[in-house]
Amino acid sequence: MTCNRESKVGSLAGITSKRNPTAMASDLKACVIGSGPNGLSAAIVLAQAGLQVEVFEAERIPGGATRSMELTLPGFIHDFGSAVYPLGAGSPFFSALPLHDCGLEWVRSPAPLAHPLDDGTAVVLEQDLEATTTGLGTDGAIWRQLMGPLVKHWSEFAPEVLGPVLKIPRHPWLLARFGMNALLPAKVVASRFKSDRTRALFAGLAAHSFLSMDEPLTSAFAMLMAAPAHVVGWPIACAGSQSITNALCGYLAKLGGQVKTSARVKSLDALSGYDLVLCDLTPKQLLEIAGQQLSDRYRRQLNKYRYGPGVFKVDYALNAPIPWKAPECLRAATLHLGGTFDEIAASENAVRNGEHPERPFVLLAQPTLFDRSRAPAGKHTGWAYCHVPNGSTFDMLPRLESQIERFAPGFRDIVVGRHVLSPAGLEGMNSNLVGGDIAGGAIDLRQLLFRPTWRLYATSARNIFLCSSSTPPGAGVHGMCGYHAAKRALARLGLEPARESSRQ
Ligand SMILES: Cc1cc2nc3c(=O)[nH]c(=O)nc-3n(C[C@H](O)[C@H](O)[C@H](O)COP(=O)(O)OP(=O)(O)OC[C@H]3O[C@@H](n4cnc5c(N)ncnc54)[C@H](O)[C@@H]3O)c2cc1C
Repeated sequence: MTCNRESKVGSLAGITSKRNPTAMASDLKACVIGSGPNGLSAAIVLAQAGLQVEVFEAERIPGGATRSMELTLPGFIHDFGSAVYPLGAGSPFFSALPLHDCGLEWVRSPAPLAHPLDDGTAVVLEQDLEATTTGLGTDGAIWRQLMGPLVKHWSEFAPEVLGPVLKIPRHPWLLARFGMNALLPAKVVASRFKSDRTRALFAGLAAHSFLSMDEPLTSAFAMLMAAPAHVVGWPIACAGSQSITNALCGYLAKLGGQVKTSARVKSLDALSGYDLVLCDLTPKQLLEIAGQQLSDRYRRQLNKYRYGPGVFKVDYALNAPIPWKAPECLRAATLHLGGTFDEIAASENAVRNGEHPERPFVLLAQPTLFDRSRAPAGKHTGWAYCHVPNGSTFDMLPRLESQIERFAPGFRDIVVGRHVLSPAGLEGMNSNLVGGDIAGGAIDLRQLLFRPTWRLYATSARNIFLCSSSTPPGAGVHGMCGYHAAKRALARLGLEPARESSRQ
């Protein structure tokens, strides 16, 4: 197990490094609805600025889609939602918090990602950029050209891209260079690669967008997944994703903030005693609890917000490591199972068209190879999901497992327990996962620029803000939606955010 402290992550411009509570701020009360990573991040920014902060969480355990639990058998700890954290480890906001002191250890597998192919080999994304380019052979130079500048300048680049898109950039040349490729469909950028292996790798990275490979912006996702792999890796959290939530809650508690669980907020009308209300909710839930607080016009705008595809997820208890055909797969905590570029493109296309792919693109994590604390001795866990149309009730289990068997024959024989989460099952455990959408809403150009409306974090009510992944920069465990939302909310009260500058 490796636990490295971060050093190459960005800093957030425009924030003072010392905590600077004013007498006025300490008289102010804020509440946050929802304790996902963005809700907790917003709560931390508000508490750092000196406000009294309470977080209300509907579920029994805080964390939203960043929780761990025994979903299969006793002693097997599974990540209910998120599992792998390139953007968590690469987040400028998280990196400025003392999360390590609050118990968070990132664990890195020797390689961030492996992408097995039918010939029994795998393309491997190494953390070291040079090792990756060497492994990609003739395509190495193009890979370096694409990723090199982002990797080299990650500390300037991350704060630029992990926030609202429409703003005056601090590093325009860097963004322009990124944008030149990022705006293109993955199909176009992948066509520059000579090898089918590199094209397959790029497709798997781009498929994190939930878009078809011929849609604009898909390359942005591939690059935003690959660049941090070369900077901070794709770590998992030691002992499970709950450790991230526990560290955020622990730090919030040190700042005087409180998290109240099993406390679903049913109406904003009941929250009149707060100077600020931040909602770690998607537009659908905000509308459900809005009461009299939002204007009709704003409600209409929220009603137009669109959700993206859902996911079908399976957690496994295993009595052995997964028997991959390609031994390189044992070096990576994350695997992309989908074969060639064309197959992955067909799978994502089918989902975009409301169909269930025969050969789905499967994302799989095998955390226990690198973190023994999550399963009994000699046993393992597996985490896998594939994309499905929003709200799908189709049983993808046989197709998902066929994809695993394709690259790891005998997989089914090592399964001793499995727990299936359909889109409805996911939403039942976290109401933000509308129809199984794990991204807080569809990602297209409009919803990238105006997420969820042109007001971004603000709403029609002066003291109510949105801070979930339905605001910029969107999905992923990075806390940046919460950070930006809280900053806007403080500005509304004429307050400056303050921050303790201890780095992990
Ligand atoms: C299966 C799955 C796999 C994923 N994989 C990854 C990954 O590997 N890496 C990664 O970075 N990201 C991943 N993600 C995405 C990531 O988890 C989310 O983008 C992130 O959790 C969003 O954080 P959030 O704070 O906006 O919302 P959430 O984490 O969804 O939290 C919202 C919280 O609000 C609470 N809530 C809702 N309504 C109310 C109410 N009325 N009153 C009180 N509380 C309420 C919910 O219970 C929940 O706790 C994954 C997500 C899922 C589901």
